[in-house]
Amino acid sequence: MSMQLSDRINKLKASATLAMAAKARELRAEGKDIIGLSLGEPDFNTPDFIKEAAIQAVNDNYNSYTPVDGYTELKDAIITKFKRDNNLSYNRSQIVVSTGAKQSLYNVAQVYLNAGDEVILPCPYWVSYSDIVKLAGGVPVEVKTSIDTDFKMTATQLKEAITPKTKMIWYSSPCNPSGSIYSKEELRSLADVLKKYPDIIVVSDEIYEHINYAGDHASMAQFDDMYDRTVTVNGVAKAFAMTGWRIGYIGAPESIARACNKMQGQVTSGANCIAQRAVITALEAPVNKIQYMVDEFKNRRKLILDLLKEIPGFECNEPEGAFYVFPDISYYFGKTIQGTTINNASDFSMLLLEQANVATVTGDAFGNGNCIRISYAASTEQIKEAVKRIKDVLN
Ligand code: PMP
Ligand code: GLU
Repeated sequence: MSMQLSDRINKLKASATLAMAAKARELRAEGKDIIGLSLGEPDFNTPDFIKEAAIQAVNDNYNSYTPVDGYTELKDAIITKFKRDNNLSYNRSQIVVSTGAKQSLYNVAQVYLNAGDEVILPCPYWVSYSDIVKLAGGVPVEVKTSIDTDFKMTATQLKEAITPKTKMIWYSSPCNPSGSIYSKEELRSLADVLKKYPDIIVVSDEIYEHINYAGDHASMAQFDDMYDRTVTVNGVAKAFAMTGWRIGYIGAPESIARACNKMQGQVTSGANCIAQRAVITALEAPVNKIQYMVDEFKNRRKLILDLLKEIPGFECNEPEGAFYVFPDISYYFGKTIQGTTINNASDFSMLLLEQANVATVTGDAFGNGNCIRISYAASTEQIKEAVKRIKDVLN
């Protein structure tokens, strides 16, 4: 029998980050010594104080369905966090806890987009934005940026991208994959453009908020005129080394938050109960409890930027946050290396996987075909060895 899958799934691209991680795992199982710099995943253990809270929750018999949008205590911890870190005031009905920030984003697309609605995505954007938008019937509108503007969208570019069909703008700051951070002034200049378009809402993905080497973190919702039209997305995967625990959340206009609650009531019934209890403890802790990880990422950022400077044709911006470098490697296009002609960033990333045993992700997946993404959430030994291998192959 031939299984005819839905048009929806046939049109969906697989997540390039997860696909590359799976490929690296497969090659490792075959005995290859692959260094995985493809997945955006801290290599630290979840801090002990969070693990203990989870163990306590198991022993306290937290085993029932939770409220669909999250335990009240967790929503209160999120409200306190938003106030403490971002000076944002939300009430409980504006908060929704989900199975990872990925589901938070998915919910928002599902509840806000109709077929043909346009969503502006400054490029490079996080890999899943485009397909999450398409799954909801939306049309991603890519705004190209380059190293010259530190991969950030300017107010003029935003103005030019807006059409009568524009419904939303999605961006991450700090940005995955470029590491760029929008300053308060830069966000203000984008908000000024939006003054004329009161129906467009902004999705501000702040999951790398704490992995910031530059200083202040600015949130779009901090502007009074943007608060009612901004969905602030955040989560614990990155800063707390909790990727597998799958907890993300939003602070949003009430109508959007309630719609997300309704949506996930039919899809997941809410996020995992033990993980939610652990996240209460994570969010209530002072932010300096996770500073050791941020400090270490900062050291590794310097290390990888210094090492990559030694390789011709790797042009990098200086990422101010997150744990990625996004070098422009278009210098290699048209060249033949180890018998392989490099036509694009995917060929280049494949070359690094097959010849250097280093897993990276092609920039195409992030809407920029001249770059590759390298995650430096790996040990300094792995980073040194990976760059040495890349250098050897390219030489
Ligand atoms: N947004 C960005 C920018 C990300 O890099 C990621 C990757 N984890 C997510 C959202 C999704 O996070 P989560 O693991 O909480 O689903
Ligand atoms: N966000 C991470 C990344 O960009 C994890 C993978 C994923 O969720 O796609 O690599």
